[in-house]
Order: sequence, then C-alpha cells, then structure tokens
Amino acid sequence: MDVASLTALDRAHVWHPYGPMPGTRDPLVVESASGVRLRLADGRDLVDGMSSWWAAIHGYRHPRLDAAVRDQLDRMSHVMFGGLTHEPAVRLATKLVEITPSPLRHVFLADSGSVSIEVAIKMCLQYWLSVGRPEKRRLLTWRGGYHGDTFHPMSVCDPDGGMHSLWRGVLPEQVFVPTPPAGFDAGVDHDYVALLAALVEENADSLAAVIVEPVVQGAGGMRFHDPRYLHVLRELTLTHDVLLIFDEIATGFGRTGTLFAADHAAVSPDVMCVGKAMTGGYLSMAAALCTSEIANGISQGDLPVLAHGPTYMGNPLAAAVANASIDLLLDSDWAADIRRIEAGLIAGLEPVVDLPGVVDVRVLGGIGVVQLDHPVDIALATKATVASGVWLRPFRDLIYTMPPYVTRDEDLALITKALCAAVAAG
Ligand code: PLP
Repeated sequence: MDVASLTALDRAHVWHPYGPMPGTRDPLVVESASGVRLRLADGRDLVDGMSSWWAAIHGYRHPRLDAAVRDQLDRMSHVMFGGLTHEPAVRLATKLVEITPSPLRHVFLADSGSVSIEVAIKMCLQYWLSVGRPEKRRLLTWRGGYHGDTFHPMSVCDPDGGMHSLWRGVLPEQVFVPTPPAGFDAGVDHDYVALLAALVEENADSLAAVIVEPVVQGAGGMRFHDPRYLHVLRELTLTHDVLLIFDEIATGFGRTGTLFAADHAAVSPDVMCVGKAMTGGYLSMAAALCTSEIANGISQGDLPVLAHGPTYMGNPLAAAVANASIDLLLDSDWAADIRRIEAGLIAGLEPVVDLPGVVDVRVLGGIGVVQLDHPVDIALATKATVASGVWLRPFRDLIYTMPPYVTRDEDLALITKALCAAVAAG
C-alpha cells in the first residue's frame, strides 16, 4: 500500500494512543526497524530515543530475540494456560523469582502492564478479604504517578495531571499524598515523611495497600525521588498492616542503573509488577509477583483461588522472547552500558540547562529529561527531532529520552542533539 493511502485509512479507522477520531495528525509510517533505527516508509532512518515506550532495550531485530521467537513458533505460538503449562512460562516465572527481591515467590503472567497492576491490586484486596478484613480495600499512593489506563490503575494515577481526571466519580476514590520531593540524591524530607506517616496511620483500617513507582515516576511526569522513601514506605506499611506494591513496569530490567529500582534501597515489596522491557519490546507481556504470605492468605479464603485468567495468559511466544531478553540482559554488562548512557545524557543535555524556558534538566541511568515552563508544541518539537534524524515523543511540558541500552555513543549524541533542537523549537 502506498504511504498516502495508508495514512488516509489510518486517519479514518485507527485509534492511536491518546488520539482523537478521526486522527488530526498523520503518524509517521514505519516500514521496518533494526538495531536502534526505525526505517520510515519514505526511506528515512530515525534513531529511536524512546525504545518504543521504554521496552526495546536491546534494539530491534536482535538476532537472539528473533531466534527465540522463531524457535518457539516452530513448537507452538499459543496454548491456553488453564489446565496446561509449558516450559517458556515456567522458565520465565522461575527466572523472575530468581532476579527480583527474594520474598517474591509467585508469578502471575499478565498480558500488559495495566493488567498486571489490576492483578496486583486484586491480589491485595483478595488477601484482606480472605483473612477476614474486607474493609481493607482502598489504596494509598503519592501524586504524580502513572500505573496504566484500565480502571483500577487509573484510580491511582495522578488525579490532576493526567487525562484520568475525566473519570472522577467513576473511579474508586483512593488516598493521595503529595508528590514525593524531587531528586534522587535529595535526602529525606522529614515533614513529608510525617505527612506520609499521618495519612497511612489515619487510613490504615481501610487501606489494602500502598502502591508506588519506585524511584522514578514515569508517564506521570518523569520525576525522580530519593530511594530512601522506599524504606520509609516499607516501615510504615509493616507497622500499620498495609501491603506494599511496587510498580516496576517502567523501571525494571536495569533502566535506572540497578536491575530493579527497588534495589537502590534494597527494599522488598509484597507485590511487584514488571513489564515493558521484559520481552525486549517484542510482545506484550507483564507479570505480577507476590510473596507466599499473600498467596497463602488468598488460598485460605472462601474463594481460595485468584480469580483472574486472561485468554492469552502465559503466551509461549512472549514468554520465550522474555526469557531470551532477560538472558541477553544478564549476559551483557548492562550496568556499564547504563553508566555510559547516563554520562552521555548528562554531557549531551548540558547545552540546554541555562536556556530560557527550561525549568529542569535531569538524568538518572538511561533516562534523560528536559522540563520546560510551558507545554511542548508537540508538532514543532517532533518536526525538529525528525529533521535531526531522531524519534522522540514529548508530552506535557517534558521532552525526554530513554534510549535502547545498545545505543552507541555516536547515536546517543544524535539523540541529545535532537532533544536540544526540540527544546529550541518547542
Ligand atoms: N505502570 C507504569 C509505571 C507504566 O509506565 C506503564 C506504561 O507506561 C504501565 C503501568 C501500563 O503498562 P501498559 O501500557 O503495558 O498497560
């Protein structure tokens, strides 16, 4: 199909993320992708500074990942998971248990990050129901978060900043504390801790769990906080009989410099969600992991099962590529790659630090963010990055990059140059 017909049909029929219908802007048509480059239908190549929404950490068409999918395709692409099991899923679950904090022992394979958050919340609510405390069914979180677009995850997204404010009155009402004070090295603000403690204590009888993105709040505003707040949350939740959920969907698998963001603080949650980079960006799969205490609690209830079972649960193709992606990551010196990318981002974003309109430039691991004092003009910013040979996707007042870990220094320099161009344009 030629590009004009394709974009016309796309505009007429295809919803895009957070998009109007019919579409008002023509998306770029990608014909193929390889390494860190997207090949557009018009022949242009763009270096991908987004890792396809933070998932394609090894780049595109990686030979080991391609081989894993092909090999699995020759055996079976899918079988139902009810009453059946298979090696890719068992290996994946075992591997996830091995590499995540040790009290996490049981794995629910979900079809997307949002669904894994639904499952994590369901695990916590059902745990309290099963142990005879049905009144514990609310969640506490800090503002500025993002946990997905299905309804329960939406209820713990930032209530003002995101698009989910539309659903006030429809969503379950959760308890919000202010956004954690900014800065990975900022130290712990005692007034903030006191406020957190007061709200957890005050609501403990009705709280099932505290849910947060550890260390980096991603799509809610690309903010970093001090990992010591995770200790604070762990102590408060233990003291007040509240469970703790870490959403590592964006931060997991090395992005912040440790394998999981919780590792910065050596804190173990009761439930943890991973997704995105788990399959190296090949197929949609996520997981909710929980402790034996939660699993045992659920198993002693009137309904002694976790009542959740998506059709494509444990999909063998996704599990096979996830196994290959995790092995590839662990076989590489990923931590050195992240340190190299971090240094490149700090150096490459230096030129915009003092520009008018720039409020903050922050870098942590493989994440580089420029925050403006006004909403980004997405069309102008995108035009500038594409003209620089780079794909970025700014949102709100943020222009940022999360490049694949395999991005070489020359390509990283292209990304930061393009980001600076977008700042100047947008
Ligand atoms: N949680 C976090 C921290 C995320 O960043 C995202 C997606 O950006 C999600 C949950 C939702 O994941 P998915 O888009 O796979 O449903």
